[in-house]
Amino acid sequence: MIKREARSALEEVLGDHVRFGVSMAKHTSLRVGGRADAIASPASPAELAGALRVCHSHGLRHTVLGKGFNTLVRDEGIDGLVLLLGGLRELEERPGLLLRAGAGVSHSQITRFCVERGFAGLEFAAGIPGTVGGWVAMNAGIGSREAKDVVREIEVVSPTGRRRRHLRRASLHFRYRALRGLAPGSVVVSALFAVGLADREAVRAEVALKLAARARTQPLNIPSCGSVFKNPTGDFAGRLIEAAGLKGLQVGGAQISPVHANFIANTGGASAADVLALIEQARDRVERESGVRLETEVKILGRAA
Ligand SMILES: Cc1cc2nc3c(=O)[nH]c(=O)nc-3n(C[C@H](O)[C@H](O)[C@H](O)COP(=O)(O)OP(=O)(O)OC[C@H]3O[C@@H](n4cnc5c(N)ncnc54)[C@H](O)[C@@H]3O)c2cc1C
Repeated sequence: MIKREARSALEEVLGDHVRFGVSMAKHTSLRVGGRADAIASPASPAELAGALRVCHSHGLRHTVLGKGFNTLVRDEGIDGLVLLLGGLRELEERPGLLLRAGAGVSHSQITRFCVERGFAGLEFAAGIPGTVGGWVAMNAGIGSREAKDVVREIEVVSPTGRRRRHLRRASLHFRYRALRGLAPGSVVVSALFAVGLADREAVRAEVALKLAARARTQPLNIPSCGSVFKNPTGDFAGRLIEAAGLKGLQVGGAQISPVHANFIANTGGASAADVLALIEQARDRVERESGVRLETEVKILGRAA
């Protein structure tokens, strides 16, 4: 619950960009999860910083999300303010073959921008759903290519909302599906990406290839959060789950996808508890069969059951 003074302070800073008691199922791609005490969609970095300052001064927890494509919120909901950054959507070309993108810019927006201008280098990420903030924070990627290969700089607001810094690539600690080293609660507000010049049709063709490969191998027409587990060194989580005979396994409305074993799909009416039970079953069965303990890639948030 948010105290009255904190609520008023949030309303003062965010106006109608803040709402209270909102279901997170509407804001995460798995379409499950309980209510957040409050959610806000700041329209500018200044509004975001204002919201962070209110949280800091009122002792309110904050959680940053892009579009929730890699996030599972428990049925019990989530304390404090959830900041959805989809509103930070500036995208521009900068001198020296660079793109500056606000944290809320989507991959599809970047892909269109690159195709229109014949910018090459980011095609590998075509079809990864979500925002620039999520891409950077997760070091999202596919195969051997990740965000870290194309990020030149990021702009970060401190958890208290008082400090804004530009951090060069050399000072960033990217790991497999993670960016380490930022203070907890820091918010990425924009990123600078390096691109090359290429023939527009060549970029378009490369993007089409990537999208077609996804459509062939991933269940894209059903709610999911993409890969549930990280790939263990030298192997694939999907292969281990399939080898353990778990494709199609169902708990309530959640199912290990028959298309891609590292995806859990919400077949309709799933709860977060269904998804979490399936995660635990898959983890235990894979460990029993292969000795490998899988680690989740999906970020699990919210109050404990
Ligand atoms: C069908 C499907 C396919 C997918 N394919 C891939 C794939 O090929 N490769 C891959 O890597 N992922 C994949 N994913 C997962 C997901 O798309 C990526 O992780 C993506 O980068 C998440 O972006 P988001 O904005 O939705 O992040 P969210 O889910 O909103 O957030 C993810 C994490 O990033 C943090 N975060 C988000 N924005 C910020 C910010 N501005 N500042 C600080 N922290 C922030 C959040 O706190 C959270 O910890 C897939 C998901 C789906 C549903």
